[in-house]
Amino acid sequence: MNEIYEFRIPEDLAPQLFNDLEGVRLGTSIRKVLVSTDDPRFERIGMIQHSMHETSNRSFFYGWKINREYDKQDLSSAQLFQLKINKVFEPAGEECGTEYNEGTACPFCGTGADQVSPLFLPEKRIPKRVDVSETIAGEIVVSRRLASILRSIGLADNIKPIFPCLSANSHLQDWYQFIPPNNYLSICIPTVIGIDPFNLDPLGHYRCKCNNLLGLNLLSEVWVKRSPTYTDEIGLMSSVQFTGVRRGLLRPERVLFLWPNTRNKLISENVKGFTSDVAHYA
Ligand SMILES: [Zn+2]
Repeated sequence: MNEIYEFRIPEDLAPQLFNDLEGVRLGTSIRKVLVSTDDPRFERIGMIQHSMHETSNRSFFYGWKINREYDKQDLSSAQLFQLKINKVFEPAGEECGTEYNEGTACPFCGTGADQVSPLFLPEKRIPKRVDVSETIAGEIVVSRRLASILRSIGLADNIKPIFPCLSANSHLQDWYQFIPPNNYLSICIPTVIGIDPFNLDPLGHYRCKCNNLLGLNLLSEVWVKRSPTYTDEIGLMSSVQFTGVRRGLLRPERVLFLWPNTRNKLISENVKGFTSDVAHYA
């Protein structure tokens, strides 16, 4: 496995580590660069970031994203995959009338409020070129085609209608909400979760004593334990715990997992809008 980070670095700072030909300029002020974790400059990025935070109010990088590249052997021997949804959109369901019962959430971190109404979303805002996407609040939207694939693998009860607005009499015909089963896989060590690749949140600002909120961002592949209720008949699941933060419309989200057979099925059906990283049973 080859792990490559994509960083967004201010153009005036980029020459500290990168030559003029490296990266892609996004407008005039930001450069997108790809750096493998094997590259000695990867650690340097963290050191520069740290020293800039100590001496100024600027950052060496702003956005970042992890891409993992696997060879055939990695993929064929994997027993589990993490499903990553590529497209995130607004509005959140809550802005359109979707109700949550905050009384079911953790009082300290706000994680885990139950959705207690149908999902309301305007159809025109749902990304049309993919079969799966999610709102900024983690509400998962699937195309009619993907919904029928998920029904065919035993997940019919997890497919819910989406209504365009509170007063609508009928649900959207081409889009459904998918609520994955979540009682089966518990994230465990050595999974690494933190704020960014160089800040593992040593003081635990984004972790909660409820043990349901594990931190802000996943930084490694994921390891899981099967819970006593685990059954190997479920092809697409989510973790017991959450990552992220409860802030404004944002809600912590569960991590999604795919069985190898389900992944093969989605790929052979040309389902668009997801990537998958290898995950592990501990
Ligand atoms: Zn909590």
